[in-house]
Amino acid sequence: MAEARQPERLCVGCRTLHPKRELLRIVKSPDGMVAIDPTGKSPGRGAYLCPSPECLRKARRQNGLSWSFKGRVVPAVYDALEEIVQHEEDGT
Ligand SMILES: [Zn+2]
Repeated sequence: MAEARQPERLCVGCRTLHPKRELLRIVKSPDGMVAIDPTGKSPGRGAYLCPSPECLRKARRQNGLSWSFKGRVVPAVYDALEEIVQHEEDGT
């Protein structure tokens, strides 16, 4: 029967589609602040990243978040993401 279609989003690192729930959400709020959104529910424009150091490296090198948000993104956002993906890699 009809499978529930999973929402998919583009990872800003590898730029391929993945199920939304497997991705980290980064959000640019209406006032222009860019932050990681662990709940996935913050208002604003979202960008998505696979929780993998590899994708984060690509995103950083290509300025994937700036590309997605069409504006400058402070390096602190990438640093915060790095902490998260490193924990993911530990398998915790
Ligand atoms: Zn990716």
